[in-house]
Amino acid sequence: MKVPEKLCQPCGRKLGGFYIDERFVGPATHIATYTLRCCDVCGKKTAVGDLKEFGGLKKDWTYYLKGR
Ligand SMILES: [Zn+2]
Repeated sequence: MKVPEKLCQPCGRKLGGFYIDERFVGPATHIATYTLRCCDVCGKKTAVGDLKEFGGLKKDWTYYLKGR
């Protein structure tokens, strides 16, 4: 599976290392910049951020994509 580089908020919350059960647990000073384009995970055209802004991918990120 291709590693996503741009994620929308809902996908970033599911797959990002800064999130546990979709709650933000990353650094307080975390800055995110968003651009309007297609999310690499769900394909929706929306505000997406770089993968690093979500803390990278969870180790078991492919697990979160199953059942979609
Ligand atoms: Zn998405």
